[in-house]
Amino acid sequence: MTRFTKITASIGPSCESVAILRKMILMGVNVCRMNFSHDTGQEQGKKVDAIRKISKELQTPVAVLIDLQGPKHRIGNFKTEEKYPLTPGQAFTFDSNPEPGNSERVYLPDTDVMRSLHVGERILLNDGKIEMQVTDVLPDAIKTKVIRGTEIWSRRGFNLPDTYVDTSVLTDKDKTDLEYALTKNPDWVAVSFVQRAEDISEVRDFITAHTARPVKIMAKIERKTAVEQIDEIAMAADGIMIARGDMAVELPYEQVPAISRHIIRECRRLNRPVVMATQMLGSMVESEFPTRAEISDVANAAYLRVDSTMTSEETTIGANPLNVVETMSKILSFSDEDAVKNANDWVRSEESGENDWSRSVSSMAYLNKASAIIVFSRDTESAVKISCRRPDTRIIAVCDSEIVANQLCLMRGVFPLYTPDLFAQRDYVTVAHNVGIEHGNIVIVDGENVSLQNLD
Ligand code: PEP
Repeated sequence: MTRFTKITASIGPSCESVAILRKMILMGVNVCRMNFSHDTGQEQGKKVDAIRKISKELQTPVAVLIDLQGPKHRIGNFKTEEKYPLTPGQAFTFDSNPEPGNSERVYLPDTDVMRSLHVGERILLNDGKIEMQVTDVLPDAIKTKVIRGTEIWSRRGFNLPDTYVDTSVLTDKDKTDLEYALTKNPDWVAVSFVQRAEDISEVRDFITAHTARPVKIMAKIERKTAVEQIDEIAMAADGIMIARGDMAVELPYEQVPAISRHIIRECRRLNRPVVMATQMLGSMVESEFPTRAEISDVANAAYLRVDSTMTSEETTIGANPLNVVETMSKILSFSDEDAVKNANDWVRSEESGENDWSRSVSSMAYLNKASAIIVFSRDTESAVKISCRRPDTRIIAVCDSEIVANQLCLMRGVFPLYTPDLFAQRDYVTVAHNVGIEHGNIVIVDGENVSLQNLD
């Protein structure tokens, strides 16, 4: 089986011995990610040296990806290491006083953040478990109201989903790390918390000032501002990482799959490789087997034709990194092959002559911008057939049988109405009004008969 989708493995304590790294590369790891949020530069450097040596020995090319921590914001310390209670509705202040914090205030070391916040914007702490809203901005303090959360403690990281932070994408730590990392000739540098295309230019300038070697830049998309400017950022960078961890804090988590698909589409259009990251096999930090949902997540990334999937804690601190790589490789290989073999499955299934009728109903609705397909349904057959063409138009199934209405509840896009009177009278106007449609086109289906009606 040929695996098309590549594997990016994060390297950490569980897998940094030469023996394990060697096996991981033999098992098919294509990119080794060194996360500079952890470990000193020197320690990361030793891993890079080991990877280069193994790659040479095995005559297998492996890319080295340096992932910079970026401007991850953290609050200061509290008086003790205990958790301090918070009550929704209470006031809480972030200030420039380095004294230890309490239940009413804490030090905010980051002056750029202090300058950037506005009244009404949200501050999310501890992976979004605490939400506060800014109520006042003073020269040396940010006053907030607690919206959600019951306790706070030292050094919590925080996200600012509504705020453009006027700061450099490279912190002093990043500059030190990058300067050192460049002496190790990385292939890729990943930039965290990118907000705009100019951030990439800043990193590129830094790199070209320190090395003549070509180094590719990967923009990690995790901030709302970055999602909004994905095209410009993708054009400025050489590749994109969909960093779903922070993205699901900065943006409503239910939007992450849609945003991911959008990013993948744009990357393909703009000819930029794209890496799908975070918790792909998360349960395997401890478990021997992936969850069924994780298997699907990895497979779906292959079906979406990403360039690479990525492991994080599964390989850095997981119980069995080799098992993780083998599992990911197995799922990707099978799904890649299936995607190639059955690429046109949907299209082919639509092509069979027996679906001509339902396809024409669906097309009629689409071409005439109908607000609904109203199906007078004595049984489930017509509504099911039309639903299986997956029209973008909702199907209102008017039923004279409660059983039929209940059975149709499962079908995609079908909204059954149990209304024997309207069924008997074929009263589509009242049906349309009952579901809030007053104007425009609707498609009416009654047995084999199909017609287009206009309500204006
Ligand atoms: C993420 O946030 O999903 C991510 C990949 O970044 P990091 O591991 O640096 O938090």
